[in-house]
Amino acid sequence: MREIGHFIGGKRVAGTSGRFSDVFNPSTGAVQAKVALASPEELRAAVENAKAAQVKWGATNPQRRARVLMKFLELLHKEYDSLAELLSSEHGKTVPDAKGDIQRGLEVVEFAIGIPHLLKGEYSDNAGTGIDVYSMRQPLGVVAGITPFNFPAMIPLWKLAPALACGNAMILKPSERDPSVPMRIAELFIEAGLPPGVLNVVNGDKVSVDAILDDPDIKAVGFVGSTPIAQYIYSRATATGKRCQCFGGAKNHAVIMPDADLDQAVDGIIGAAYGSAGERCMALSVAVPVGKDTADRLMTKLVARVENLKIGPSTDAAADYGPLVTRDAVNRVSGYIDIGVAEGATLVVDGRGFKLQGYEDGFYVGGTLFDNVTPDMRIYKEEIFGPVLAVVRAEHYEDAVKLVNDHEYGNGVAIFTQSGDAARDFAARIQIGMVGVNVPIPVPIAYYTFGGWKASGFGDLNQHGPDSIRFYTKTKTVTSRWPSTNKDGASFVIPTMA
Ligand code: NAD
Repeated sequence: MREIGHFIGGKRVAGTSGRFSDVFNPSTGAVQAKVALASPEELRAAVENAKAAQVKWGATNPQRRARVLMKFLELLHKEYDSLAELLSSEHGKTVPDAKGDIQRGLEVVEFAIGIPHLLKGEYSDNAGTGIDVYSMRQPLGVVAGITPFNFPAMIPLWKLAPALACGNAMILKPSERDPSVPMRIAELFIEAGLPPGVLNVVNGDKVSVDAILDDPDIKAVGFVGSTPIAQYIYSRATATGKRCQCFGGAKNHAVIMPDADLDQAVDGIIGAAYGSAGERCMALSVAVPVGKDTADRLMTKLVARVENLKIGPSTDAAADYGPLVTRDAVNRVSGYIDIGVAEGATLVVDGRGFKLQGYEDGFYVGGTLFDNVTPDMRIYKEEIFGPVLAVVRAEHYEDAVKLVNDHEYGNGVAIFTQSGDAARDFAARIQIGMVGVNVPIPVPIAYYTFGGWKASGFGDLNQHGPDSIRFYTKTKTVTSRWPSTNKDGASFVIPTMA
Protein backbone atom coordinates (compact mmCIF):
# COMPACT_ATOMS: atom_id res chain seq x y z
CA MET A 1 0.00 0.00 0.00
CA ARG A 2 1.31 3.46 -0.95
CA GLU A 3 2.27 5.53 2.09
CA ILE A 4 2.08 9.31 2.18
CA GLY A 5 4.38 10.85 4.77
CA HIS A 6 5.19 14.51 5.36
CA PHE A 7 7.14 17.22 3.54
CA ILE A 8 9.75 18.65 5.88
CA GLY A 9 12.98 20.50 5.15
CA GLY A 10 12.39 20.49 1.39
CA LYS A 11 11.73 16.78 0.92
CA ARG A 12 9.26 13.98 1.51
CA VAL A 13 9.88 12.11 4.75
CA ALA A 14 8.19 9.00 6.09
CA GLY A 15 5.92 9.29 9.11
CA THR A 16 7.34 7.88 12.33
CA SER A 17 4.32 7.92 14.65
CA GLY A 18 3.07 4.52 13.50
CA ARG A 19 -0.44 6.01 13.07
CA PHE A 20 -2.09 6.18 9.65
CA SER A 21 -5.41 7.10 8.08
CA ASP A 22 -6.93 5.60 4.92
CA VAL A 23 -7.08 7.67 1.73
CA PHE A 24 -9.93 6.40 -0.43
CA ASN A 25 -10.81 6.53 -4.07
CA PRO A 26 -14.40 7.68 -3.43
CA SER A 27 -15.51 6.66 -6.91
CA THR A 28 -14.83 2.97 -6.20
CA GLY A 29 -14.73 2.92 -2.42
CA ALA A 30 -11.24 1.34 -2.47
CA VAL A 31 -8.44 2.42 -0.14
CA GLN A 32 -5.71 3.78 -2.41
CA ALA A 33 -3.10 4.96 0.10
CA LYS A 34 -2.32 5.42 3.76
CA VAL A 35 -1.41 8.83 5.07
CA ALA A 36 0.80 9.21 8.12
CA LEU A 37 -0.64 11.05 11.13
CA ALA A 38 2.09 13.17 12.70
CA SER A 39 3.12 13.05 16.33
CA PRO A 40 3.83 16.26 18.29
CA GLU A 41 7.56 15.50 17.85
CA GLU A 42 7.23 15.41 14.05
CA LEU A 43 5.31 18.68 14.13
CA ARG A 44 8.06 20.17 16.28
CA ALA A 45 10.73 19.06 13.78
CA ALA A 46 8.82 20.84 11.02
CA VAL A 47 8.58 24.02 13.11
CA GLU A 48 12.34 23.96 13.82
CA ASN A 49 12.98 23.67 10.07
CA ALA A 50 10.58 26.48 9.30
CA LYS A 51 11.98 28.73 12.00
CA ALA A 52 15.54 28.37 10.73
CA ALA A 53 14.56 28.86 7.06
CA GLN A 54 12.32 31.86 7.72
CA VAL A 55 15.15 34.15 8.84
CA LYS A 56 16.72 34.31 5.38
CA TRP A 57 13.42 34.10 3.49
CA GLY A 58 11.98 36.99 5.52
CA ALA A 59 15.05 39.09 4.70
CA THR A 60 14.88 38.26 0.98
CA ASN A 61 13.59 41.22 -0.99
CA PRO A 62 9.89 40.96 -1.92
CA GLN A 63 10.55 40.98 -5.65
CA ARG A 64 12.80 37.94 -5.39
CA ARG A 65 10.16 36.18 -3.32
CA ALA A 66 7.59 37.09 -5.97
CA ARG A 67 9.81 35.52 -8.64
CA VAL A 68 9.61 32.17 -6.82
CA LEU A 69 5.82 32.45 -6.90
CA MET A 70 5.96 33.32 -10.58
CA LYS A 71 8.03 30.24 -11.34
CA PHE A 72 5.65 28.15 -9.18
CA LEU A 73 2.73 29.49 -11.21
CA GLU A 74 4.43 28.34 -14.39
CA LEU A 75 4.91 24.83 -12.95
CA LEU A 76 1.32 24.75 -11.75
CA HIS A 77 0.14 25.51 -15.28
CA LYS A 78 2.33 22.70 -16.62
CA GLU A 79 0.86 20.20 -14.15
CA TYR A 80 -2.70 21.49 -14.30
CA ASP A 81 -4.18 18.35 -15.87
CA SER A 82 -2.31 15.77 -13.84
CA LEU A 83 -2.93 17.67 -10.59
CA ALA A 84 -6.66 17.85 -11.39
CA GLU A 85 -6.73 14.08 -11.93
CA LEU A 86 -4.85 13.44 -8.68
CA LEU A 87 -7.19 15.79 -6.82
CA SER A 88 -10.37 14.24 -8.17
CA SER A 89 -9.11 10.70 -7.49
CA GLU A 90 -8.90 11.42 -3.73
CA HIS A 91 -11.76 13.93 -3.35
CA GLY A 92 -14.33 12.52 -5.78
CA LYS A 93 -15.19 15.79 -7.57
CA THR A 94 -15.14 15.52 -11.36
CA VAL A 95 -11.95 16.41 -13.20
CA PRO A 96 -13.40 19.63 -14.75
CA ASP A 97 -14.51 20.70 -11.25
CA ALA A 98 -11.05 19.82 -9.87
CA LYS A 99 -9.57 22.16 -12.48
CA GLY A 100 -11.77 24.91 -11.07
CA ASP A 101 -10.39 24.11 -7.60
CA ILE A 102 -6.83 24.59 -8.89
CA GLN A 103 -7.79 27.67 -10.92
CA ARG A 104 -9.29 29.55 -7.96
CA GLY A 105 -6.11 28.82 -5.96
CA LEU A 106 -3.86 29.81 -8.82
CA GLU A 107 -5.57 33.19 -9.04
CA VAL A 108 -4.49 33.95 -5.47
CA VAL A 109 -0.91 33.07 -6.43
CA GLU A 110 -1.25 35.64 -9.24
CA PHE A 111 -2.52 38.18 -6.70
CA ALA A 112 0.37 37.44 -4.31
CA ILE A 113 2.92 38.03 -7.07
CA GLY A 114 2.02 41.71 -6.69
CA ILE A 115 3.44 41.59 -3.17
CA PRO A 116 6.14 44.27 -3.58
CA HIS A 117 3.33 46.73 -4.17
CA LEU A 118 1.06 45.30 -1.50
CA LEU A 119 3.76 45.40 1.18
CA LYS A 120 4.46 49.10 0.75
CA GLY A 121 4.19 51.02 3.99
CA GLU A 122 3.20 54.62 4.65
CA TYR A 123 5.48 57.63 4.87
CA SER A 124 4.98 61.09 6.33
CA ASP A 125 7.74 63.51 5.59
CA ASN A 126 8.40 66.17 8.22
CA ALA A 127 5.60 65.00 10.54
CA GLY A 128 7.28 67.18 13.18
CA THR A 129 10.15 69.53 12.70
CA GLY A 130 12.92 67.32 11.29
CA ILE A 131 10.91 64.20 12.09
CA ASP A 132 9.83 61.61 9.53
CA VAL A 133 7.36 58.84 10.29
CA TYR A 134 7.06 55.67 8.26
CA SER A 135 5.53 52.26 8.63
CA MET A 136 6.58 48.90 7.29
CA ARG A 137 4.97 45.48 7.09
CA GLN A 138 7.11 42.67 8.42
CA PRO A 139 6.51 38.92 8.35
CA LEU A 140 5.17 37.21 11.47
CA GLY A 141 7.69 34.34 11.33
CA VAL A 142 6.30 30.80 11.27
CA VAL A 143 2.58 30.53 10.51
CA ALA A 144 0.28 27.52 10.16
CA GLY A 145 -2.58 26.66 7.83
CA ILE A 146 -5.13 23.94 8.69
CA THR A 147 -7.34 23.13 5.74
CA PRO A 148 -10.46 21.06 4.89
CA PHE A 149 -10.93 18.20 2.43
CA ASN A 150 -13.28 19.96 0.05
CA PHE A 151 -10.81 22.24 -1.77
CA PRO A 152 -7.44 20.50 -1.44
CA ALA A 153 -5.70 22.84 -3.93
CA MET A 154 -7.58 26.14 -3.61
CA ILE A 155 -7.61 26.61 0.15
CA PRO A 156 -3.97 25.61 0.79
CA LEU A 157 -2.98 28.04 -2.00
CA TRP A 158 -5.15 30.81 -0.49
CA LYS A 159 -3.02 30.45 2.63
CA LEU A 160 0.38 29.64 1.19
CA ALA A 161 0.65 32.25 -1.50
CA PRO A 162 0.17 35.40 0.60
CA ALA A 163 1.93 33.93 3.66
CA LEU A 164 5.08 33.03 1.72
CA ALA A 165 5.03 36.19 -0.38
CA CYS A 166 4.99 38.22 2.84
CA GLY A 167 8.17 36.47 4.01
CA ASN A 168 6.74 33.91 6.43
CA ALA A 169 7.52 30.22 6.65
CA MET A 170 4.48 27.97 6.73
CA ILE A 171 3.41 24.70 8.27
CA LEU A 172 0.48 23.36 6.26
CA LYS A 173 -1.71 20.71 7.88
CA PRO A 174 -4.04 19.66 5.04
CA SER A 175 -7.01 17.35 5.35
CA GLU A 176 -6.02 13.73 5.94
CA ARG A 177 -8.71 12.71 3.41
CA ASP A 178 -6.94 14.11 0.32
CA PRO A 179 -3.31 14.98 1.14
CA SER A 180 -1.60 14.25 -2.21
CA VAL A 181 -2.19 17.58 -3.95
CA PRO A 182 -0.81 19.68 -1.04
CA MET A 183 2.27 17.39 -0.99
CA ARG A 184 2.79 17.90 -4.72
CA ILE A 185 2.32 21.66 -4.34
CA ALA A 186 5.16 21.66 -1.78
CA GLU A 187 7.41 19.79 -4.22
CA LEU A 188 6.61 22.25 -6.99
CA PHE A 189 7.55 25.14 -4.70
CA ILE A 190 10.99 23.59 -4.15
CA GLU A 191 11.35 23.17 -7.91
CA ALA A 192 10.40 26.84 -8.25
CA GLY A 193 13.29 27.85 -5.99
CA LEU A 194 11.67 28.14 -2.56
CA PRO A 195 14.36 27.46 0.05
CA PRO A 196 13.86 24.13 1.88
CA GLY A 197 12.04 24.52 5.19
CA VAL A 198 10.05 27.62 4.19
CA LEU A 199 7.07 25.39 3.40
CA ASN A 200 6.47 22.19 5.33
CA VAL A 201 3.46 19.91 4.99
CA VAL A 202 2.61 17.95 8.11
CA ASN A 203 -0.15 15.42 7.64
CA GLY A 204 -2.25 14.50 10.60
CA ASP A 205 -5.34 14.73 12.73
CA LYS A 206 -6.27 16.37 16.04
CA VAL A 207 -2.90 15.39 17.57
CA SER A 208 -0.91 17.49 15.10
CA VAL A 209 -3.50 20.30 15.18
CA ASP A 210 -3.23 20.53 18.97
CA ALA A 211 0.58 20.56 18.69
CA ILE A 212 0.24 23.50 16.25
CA LEU A 213 -2.10 25.36 18.60
CA ASP A 214 0.27 25.01 21.55
CA ASP A 215 3.57 25.63 19.74
CA PRO A 216 5.11 28.91 20.94
CA ASP A 217 7.02 29.43 17.67
CA ILE A 218 3.87 29.43 15.52
CA LYS A 219 2.65 33.01 15.44
CA ALA A 220 -0.56 32.72 13.43
CA VAL A 221 -3.10 30.05 12.53
CA GLY A 222 -5.43 30.15 9.56
CA PHE A 223 -8.14 27.49 9.62
CA VAL A 224 -10.91 26.45 7.25
CA GLY A 225 -13.33 23.64 8.11
CA SER A 226 -16.48 22.94 10.08
CA THR A 227 -17.82 25.41 12.66
CA PRO A 228 -17.32 23.34 15.84
CA ILE A 229 -13.63 22.82 14.98
CA ALA A 230 -13.28 26.46 13.88
CA GLN A 231 -14.58 27.60 17.28
CA TYR A 232 -12.28 25.19 19.11
CA ILE A 233 -9.21 26.28 17.17
CA TYR A 234 -10.03 29.98 17.47
CA SER A 235 -10.41 29.83 21.25
CA ARG A 236 -7.34 27.66 21.87
CA ALA A 237 -5.04 29.53 19.45
CA THR A 238 -6.02 33.01 20.63
CA ALA A 239 -5.70 31.91 24.28
CA THR A 240 -1.98 31.42 23.63
CA GLY A 241 -1.72 34.83 21.95
CA LYS A 242 -1.65 33.67 18.34
CA ARG A 243 -3.21 35.66 15.54
CA CYS A 244 -6.07 33.53 14.26
CA GLN A 245 -8.68 33.43 11.49
CA CYS A 246 -11.09 30.50 11.34
CA PHE A 247 -13.68 29.93 8.64
CA GLY A 248 -16.50 27.52 9.39
CA GLY A 249 -19.59 25.88 7.95
CA ALA A 250 -22.48 27.37 6.03
CA LYS A 251 -26.12 27.22 5.03
CA ASN A 252 -26.37 29.38 1.93
CA HIS A 253 -29.78 30.60 0.76
CA ALA A 254 -30.97 31.51 -2.72
CA VAL A 255 -33.88 33.96 -2.65
CA ILE A 256 -35.97 33.77 -5.80
CA MET A 257 -38.11 36.84 -6.41
CA PRO A 258 -41.39 36.68 -8.40
CA ASP A 259 -39.78 38.69 -11.22
CA ALA A 260 -36.69 36.45 -11.55
CA ASP A 261 -35.79 34.87 -14.86
CA LEU A 262 -36.70 31.42 -13.59
CA ASP A 263 -34.76 29.40 -16.16
CA GLN A 264 -31.61 31.35 -15.35
CA ALA A 265 -32.23 31.00 -11.61
CA VAL A 266 -32.81 27.24 -11.87
CA ASP A 267 -29.62 26.79 -13.91
CA GLY A 268 -27.71 28.66 -11.22
CA ILE A 269 -29.35 26.87 -8.28
CA ILE A 270 -28.92 23.37 -9.74
CA GLY A 271 -25.19 23.87 -10.33
CA ALA A 272 -24.61 25.51 -6.97
CA ALA A 273 -26.67 23.01 -4.94
CA TYR A 274 -25.49 19.76 -6.52
CA GLY A 275 -22.07 20.58 -8.06
CA SER A 276 -19.25 18.78 -6.20
CA ALA A 277 -22.04 16.72 -4.53
CA GLY A 278 -22.92 19.77 -2.44
CA GLU A 279 -19.54 19.60 -0.69
CA ARG A 280 -18.76 23.30 -1.05
CA CYS A 281 -18.91 25.88 1.70
CA MET A 282 -20.58 28.15 -0.86
CA ALA A 283 -23.05 25.50 -2.05
CA LEU A 284 -26.64 26.69 -2.15
CA SER A 285 -28.49 24.40 0.23
CA VAL A 286 -31.71 26.40 0.75
CA ALA A 287 -33.97 27.87 -1.96
CA VAL A 288 -36.44 30.53 -0.82
CA PRO A 289 -39.05 31.31 -3.47
CA VAL A 290 -41.06 34.44 -2.67
CA GLY A 291 -44.82 33.96 -3.14
CA LYS A 292 -46.81 30.79 -3.81
CA ASP A 293 -46.85 31.20 -7.57
CA THR A 294 -43.02 31.57 -7.70
CA ALA A 295 -42.67 28.52 -5.45
CA ASP A 296 -44.95 26.34 -7.57
CA ARG A 297 -43.26 27.38 -10.83
CA LEU A 298 -39.81 26.87 -9.27
CA MET A 299 -40.67 23.40 -7.94
CA THR A 300 -41.92 22.20 -11.34
CA LYS A 301 -38.65 23.19 -12.96
CA LEU A 302 -36.43 21.98 -10.09
CA VAL A 303 -38.01 18.51 -9.85
CA ALA A 304 -37.39 17.79 -13.51
CA ARG A 305 -33.77 18.89 -13.22
CA VAL A 306 -32.98 17.06 -9.97
CA GLU A 307 -34.48 13.82 -11.27
CA ASN A 308 -32.22 14.03 -14.28
CA LEU A 309 -28.92 14.83 -12.60
CA LYS A 310 -26.11 12.75 -14.04
CA ILE A 311 -23.99 11.17 -11.33
CA GLY A 312 -20.76 9.45 -12.27
CA PRO A 313 -17.29 8.52 -11.10
CA SER A 314 -14.89 11.45 -10.79
CA THR A 315 -13.27 10.42 -14.08
CA ASP A 316 -16.52 11.01 -15.98
CA ALA A 317 -16.13 14.55 -17.28
CA ALA A 318 -19.76 14.58 -18.40
CA ALA A 319 -21.13 13.85 -14.91
CA ASP A 320 -22.86 16.66 -13.03
CA TYR A 321 -21.24 15.44 -9.86
CA GLY A 322 -19.33 12.50 -8.43
CA PRO A 323 -19.19 10.63 -5.15
CA LEU A 324 -18.97 12.09 -1.65
CA VAL A 325 -15.61 11.95 0.07
CA THR A 326 -16.16 8.97 2.41
CA ARG A 327 -18.67 6.32 3.41
CA ASP A 328 -19.16 8.29 6.67
CA ALA A 329 -20.23 11.29 4.62
CA VAL A 330 -22.79 9.15 2.75
CA ASN A 331 -24.18 7.88 6.06
CA ARG A 332 -24.34 11.41 7.51
CA VAL A 333 -26.20 12.81 4.47
CA SER A 334 -28.60 9.85 4.28
CA GLY A 335 -29.21 10.26 8.01
CA TYR A 336 -30.21 13.89 7.45
CA ILE A 337 -32.66 12.82 4.74
CA ASP A 338 -34.22 10.41 7.25
CA ILE A 339 -34.44 13.28 9.75
CA GLY A 340 -36.12 15.56 7.18
CA VAL A 341 -38.78 12.93 6.50
CA ALA A 342 -39.34 12.42 10.24
CA GLU A 343 -39.61 16.17 10.75
CA GLY A 344 -42.43 16.37 8.21
CA ALA A 345 -40.73 18.02 5.23
CA THR A 346 -41.98 16.85 1.82
CA LEU A 347 -39.33 14.61 0.23
CA VAL A 348 -39.86 15.24 -3.47
CA VAL A 349 -36.73 13.54 -4.85
CA ASP A 350 -34.99 10.92 -2.67
CA GLY A 351 -31.28 10.26 -3.27
CA ARG A 352 -30.84 7.65 -0.54
CA GLY A 353 -29.53 4.26 -1.54
CA PHE A 354 -28.34 5.46 -4.94
CA LYS A 355 -26.08 2.88 -6.62
CA LEU A 356 -23.98 3.58 -9.68
CA GLN A 357 -23.70 0.62 -11.99
CA GLY A 358 -20.13 -0.70 -12.05
CA TYR A 359 -19.24 1.40 -8.98
CA GLU A 360 -21.50 -0.21 -6.40
CA ASP A 361 -19.01 0.35 -3.55
CA GLY A 362 -18.47 4.04 -4.35
CA PHE A 363 -19.69 6.79 -2.01
CA TYR A 364 -22.69 8.10 -3.95
CA VAL A 365 -25.85 9.90 -2.90
CA GLY A 366 -28.49 10.81 -5.45
CA GLY A 367 -29.80 14.34 -5.86
CA THR A 368 -32.32 15.06 -3.11
CA LEU A 369 -35.01 17.73 -2.97
CA PHE A 370 -37.22 18.70 -0.03
CA ASP A 371 -40.22 21.03 -0.25
CA ASN A 372 -42.13 22.70 2.61
CA VAL A 373 -39.09 22.85 4.89
CA THR A 374 -39.61 25.09 7.92
CA PRO A 375 -37.06 27.06 9.97
CA ASP A 376 -37.45 24.90 13.07
CA MET A 377 -36.30 21.72 11.26
CA ARG A 378 -32.79 20.36 11.73
CA ILE A 379 -32.44 19.91 7.96
CA TYR A 380 -32.84 23.69 7.73
CA LYS A 381 -30.73 24.70 10.71
CA GLU A 382 -27.75 22.37 10.28
CA GLU A 383 -25.17 22.03 7.52
CA ILE A 384 -25.74 18.76 5.63
CA PHE A 385 -22.84 19.11 3.17
CA GLY A 386 -24.27 16.85 0.50
CA PRO A 387 -26.48 16.94 -2.63
CA VAL A 388 -29.60 18.00 -0.75
CA LEU A 389 -31.62 21.14 -1.47
CA ALA A 390 -34.29 22.36 0.98
CA VAL A 391 -37.05 24.65 -0.29
CA VAL A 392 -38.44 27.03 2.33
CA ARG A 393 -41.42 28.96 0.99
CA ALA A 394 -41.63 32.66 1.96
CA GLU A 395 -44.79 34.69 1.57
CA HIS A 396 -43.13 38.08 1.10
CA TYR A 397 -39.68 39.52 0.37
CA GLU A 398 -39.37 40.74 3.98
CA ASP A 399 -39.98 37.18 5.24
CA ALA A 400 -37.13 35.95 3.05
CA VAL A 401 -34.78 38.67 4.33
CA LYS A 402 -35.66 37.85 7.94
CA LEU A 403 -35.18 34.12 7.34
CA VAL A 404 -31.65 34.62 5.99
CA ASN A 405 -30.72 37.14 8.65
CA ASP A 406 -31.98 34.92 11.48
CA HIS A 407 -29.92 31.93 10.38
CA GLU A 408 -26.92 31.01 12.51
CA TYR A 409 -24.60 30.82 9.50
CA GLY A 410 -23.57 33.77 7.34
CA ASN A 411 -21.25 32.62 4.58
CA GLY A 412 -22.91 33.24 1.20
CA VAL A 413 -26.32 34.16 -0.20
CA ALA A 414 -27.81 34.86 -3.62
CA ILE A 415 -30.85 36.76 -4.83
CA PHE A 416 -32.42 36.15 -8.22
CA THR A 417 -34.39 39.13 -9.48
CA GLN A 418 -34.71 41.56 -12.36
CA SER A 419 -35.25 44.47 -10.00
CA GLY A 420 -32.23 46.65 -9.27
CA ASP A 421 -34.13 48.15 -6.37
CA ALA A 422 -34.70 44.75 -4.70
CA ALA A 423 -31.11 43.68 -5.36
CA ARG A 424 -29.71 46.88 -3.86
CA ASP A 425 -31.88 46.69 -0.78
CA PHE A 426 -31.00 43.02 -0.32
CA ALA A 427 -27.24 43.59 -0.63
CA ALA A 428 -27.40 46.43 1.89
CA ARG A 429 -29.49 44.71 4.57
CA ILE A 430 -28.51 41.06 4.40
CA GLN A 431 -26.32 39.81 7.29
CA ILE A 432 -24.06 37.61 5.18
CA GLY A 433 -20.40 37.97 4.19
CA MET A 434 -20.67 37.26 0.45
CA VAL A 435 -23.68 38.20 -1.66
CA GLY A 436 -24.58 37.21 -5.22
CA VAL A 437 -27.01 39.13 -7.39
CA ASN A 438 -28.11 36.65 -10.05
CA VAL A 439 -24.79 34.93 -9.26
CA PRO A 440 -25.29 31.62 -7.46
CA ILE A 441 -21.79 31.12 -6.01
CA PRO A 442 -20.43 34.58 -5.18
CA VAL A 443 -16.86 33.57 -4.30
CA PRO A 444 -15.03 36.89 -4.58
CA ILE A 445 -12.20 37.25 -7.07
CA ALA A 446 -8.63 36.92 -5.67
CA TYR A 447 -8.03 40.64 -5.13
CA TYR A 448 -11.15 40.97 -2.95
CA THR A 449 -11.42 39.09 0.31
CA PHE A 450 -13.32 35.91 1.14
CA GLY A 451 -15.03 35.41 4.47
CA GLY A 452 -18.34 34.63 6.10
CA TRP A 453 -20.15 36.28 9.01
CA LYS A 454 -21.77 34.93 12.17
CA ALA A 455 -20.98 31.22 12.81
CA SER A 456 -19.22 30.98 9.43
CA GLY A 457 -16.16 33.00 10.42
CA PHE A 458 -14.14 33.79 13.54
CA GLY A 459 -11.47 36.47 13.58
CA ASP A 460 -11.24 39.93 12.12
CA LEU A 461 -9.52 39.44 8.79
CA ASN A 462 -10.68 37.53 5.72
CA GLN A 463 -8.80 35.29 3.32
CA HIS A 464 -6.95 36.50 0.20
CA GLY A 465 -7.11 40.06 -1.15
CA PRO A 466 -5.82 42.95 0.98
CA ASP A 467 -6.84 41.26 4.26
CA SER A 468 -4.39 38.41 3.62
CA ILE A 469 -1.50 40.87 3.59
CA ARG A 470 -2.72 42.34 6.87
CA PHE A 471 -3.13 38.88 8.38
CA TYR A 472 0.33 37.64 7.42
CA THR A 473 2.30 40.75 8.42
CA LYS A 474 2.70 42.94 11.45
CA THR A 475 3.05 46.68 11.15
CA LYS A 476 6.02 48.50 12.54
CA THR A 477 6.00 52.28 12.68
CA VAL A 478 9.27 54.22 12.83
CA THR A 479 9.53 57.81 14.01
CA SER A 480 12.94 59.10 12.97
CA ARG A 481 14.93 62.19 13.37
CA TRP A 482 18.43 62.94 12.14
CA PRO A 483 19.63 65.72 14.42
CA SER A 484 21.93 68.35 12.98
CA THR A 485 25.29 68.72 14.64
CA ASN A 486 23.50 70.85 17.18
CA LYS A 487 22.37 68.30 19.84
CA ASP A 488 19.26 69.15 21.87
CA GLY A 489 20.21 67.38 25.02
CA ALA A 490 17.80 65.31 27.06
CA SER A 491 14.10 66.16 27.29
CA PHE A 492 11.88 64.85 30.06
CA VAL A 493 8.46 65.73 28.65
CA ILE A 494 6.51 63.35 26.40
CA PRO A 495 7.49 63.93 22.75
CA THR A 496 4.79 65.61 20.62
CA MET A 497 4.79 66.72 17.00
CA ALA A 498 3.96 70.31 17.94
P1 NAD B 1 -13.29 19.49 9.42
O1 NAD B 1 -13.64 20.56 10.37
O2 NAD B 1 -13.69 18.09 9.76
O3 NAD B 1 -11.70 19.44 9.19
C1 NAD B 1 -10.96 20.58 8.86
C2 NAD B 1 -9.54 20.42 9.36
O4 NAD B 1 -9.55 20.29 10.78
C3 NAD B 1 -8.83 19.19 8.82
O5 NAD B 1 -7.50 19.51 8.52
C4 NAD B 1 -8.94 18.19 9.96
O6 NAD B 1 -7.86 17.29 10.00
C5 NAD B 1 -8.93 19.08 11.19
N1 NAD B 1 -9.71 18.51 12.30
C6 NAD B 1 -10.79 17.70 12.21
N2 NAD B 1 -11.26 17.39 13.44
C7 NAD B 1 -10.46 18.01 14.32
C8 NAD B 1 -10.43 18.10 15.75
N3 NAD B 1 -11.34 17.45 16.50
N4 NAD B 1 -9.49 18.84 16.33
C9 NAD B 1 -8.57 19.49 15.59
N5 NAD B 1 -8.54 19.45 14.24
C10 NAD B 1 -9.48 18.73 13.60
O7 NAD B 1 -13.87 19.92 8.00
P2 NAD B 1 -13.91 19.09 6.64
O8 NAD B 1 -14.92 17.99 6.77
O9 NAD B 1 -12.55 18.74 6.19
O10 NAD B 1 -14.46 20.20 5.63
C11 NAD B 1 -15.82 20.50 5.46
C12 NAD B 1 -16.23 21.68 6.31
O11 NAD B 1 -15.43 22.82 5.99
C13 NAD B 1 -17.67 22.12 6.05
O12 NAD B 1 -18.25 22.47 7.27
C14 NAD B 1 -17.51 23.35 5.15
O13 NAD B 1 -18.59 24.24 5.19
C15 NAD B 1 -16.27 23.95 5.72
N6 NAD B 1 -15.62 24.85 4.78
C16 NAD B 1 -15.70 26.19 5.04
C17 NAD B 1 -15.12 27.09 4.16
C18 NAD B 1 -15.18 28.55 4.42
O14 NAD B 1 -14.43 29.30 3.80
N7 NAD B 1 -16.03 29.02 5.33
C19 NAD B 1 -14.47 26.63 3.02
C20 NAD B 1 -14.40 25.24 2.80
C21 NAD B 1 -14.98 24.37 3.70
